[in-house]
Amino acid sequence: MEDQHSRSLISVNTSSNTEFNLLQVNGTWVRRSQPCQLAEGKLSAAKIYENKSGQGICWTVVSPITFTYRVVQCKDLLDARNDTMLWGHIGDRDELEAAMWNPRPAKRFVVIDETVNQLYGSQVAQYFEAREIVHKILPLPTTEENKSMELVTKILGEIHGFGVDRRAEPIIAIGGGVCLDVVGLAASLYRRRTPYIRVPTTLLSYIDASVGAKTGVNFAGGKNKVGSYVPPAATFLDRSFLQTLPRRQISNGMAEMLKMALMKHKCLFELLEAEGRNLLDSNFQSSDSAAESTCIAIQTMLEELAPNLWEDDLDRLVDFGHLISPELEMRVLPALLHGEAVNIDMSFMVYVAQQRGLLTARERSRIIQCMSGLELPVWHQECTLALVKKSLDERLKHSAGSLRMPLPTGLGRAEIFHDVTDDILCQAYQRWTDELSSFSHK
Ligand code: NAD
Repeated sequence: MEDQHSRSLISVNTSSNTEFNLLQVNGTWVRRSQPCQLAEGKLSAAKIYENKSGQGICWTVVSPITFTYRVVQCKDLLDARNDTMLWGHIGDRDELEAAMWNPRPAKRFVVIDETVNQLYGSQVAQYFEAREIVHKILPLPTTEENKSMELVTKILGEIHGFGVDRRAEPIIAIGGGVCLDVVGLAASLYRRRTPYIRVPTTLLSYIDASVGAKTGVNFAGGKNKVGSYVPPAATFLDRSFLQTLPRRQISNGMAEMLKMALMKHKCLFELLEAEGRNLLDSNFQSSDSAAESTCIAIQTMLEELAPNLWEDDLDRLVDFGHLISPELEMRVLPALLHGEAVNIDMSFMVYVAQQRGLLTARERSRIIQCMSGLELPVWHQECTLALVKKSLDERLKHSAGSLRMPLPTGLGRAEIFHDVTDDILCQAYQRWTDELSSFSHK
């Protein structure tokens, strides 16, 4: 025992650590421990650290990976005169020229939600026909109940049969958040990563599911338990798709918008308080407030996502409303839509914030009133205290030691709290139920 201990001390003392840069000279990458001159060749941002000890060698590779993706808001996406659908993912002018003037006919594989296909499928087909694009359109029932690996496998089989150029022919997903998540996962798996494009057609996916990097499917009864962090090459936003959305789906999307308002943007909250009903009535088609609210929701979302694309930092304001809701949504599926479950979670957390002394009674009641005005459920009988505790315990397992709770500290302001006690949770739960159970969702 003593021998082993002294031996390990010796190996620590005698170990050496060397940092190597990587330089490409005439097509070959070489290690350089000295500073490199740029004239010598191409310098990589990656580094290799070599640690030699009495026990052997350990190489540590540090290889920064950059993701670049575009979120493009436009009108008339399906008008054949609009290039966006074909080339909007390319930001570099030379690359764009090369792609547009490539003599080989362009090819696109499109997955479209079945309902969206009934509404817009012929316009989508006409677009690709008018542009003489070799294409395949695959309508699928991309519902929450079907959000599974089977759907991913089906898409992979179809992509393989059709054949796409992994560099030049992005796969296009047109639909709600389920369609975008499932196609995103398939694309991230096909040939290890094939570019894809998101065209959201629900409000929820327009402001939330299409602007970040996450893909996923439900697995083993768990919400989005299998997935990847691979952003699309681009997202194309056209608000006109929302005109055919049922009212409940508009309201559902407004929950994620309200989340950003509560966490980060008081003016957005006030806009939802004042204009929420009009936005609902007009399906986000009319007026400046539709453009303004969607734009703020996306900007604030991008601010939170871009520095933490792979969610390495566990302190995330965008998790507000997502601590209890995954468990609730899956338990009552299909009774609650995603945004509705998120709203019930937010409604409870607003009571927790008040109990913790972060919100005044007046602020709390303005928030709950705003939720009701957006026709969102604020309480649910299946959201029991036991479910709350189970969800938070589950969350704790993946939170590196302490539960991190984003909570509002005023209207449009928030912080992450690590110290919410069981007592506060129980008292908040009691008050929440006493005051809001009469607003129960059908
Ligand atoms: P959804 O994809 O199930 O679509 C809702 C319904 O609307 C579907 O029945 C669909 O057929 C219909 N529909 C879609 N567009 C329509 C249109 N223009 N007109 C009429 N009907 C239309 O649900 P959703 O709310 O869009 O997305 C929820 C999903 O998004 C959840 O699975 C959630 O996990 C996921 N999500 C992902 C992220 C992410 O970062 N990847 C973020 C938020 C939510």
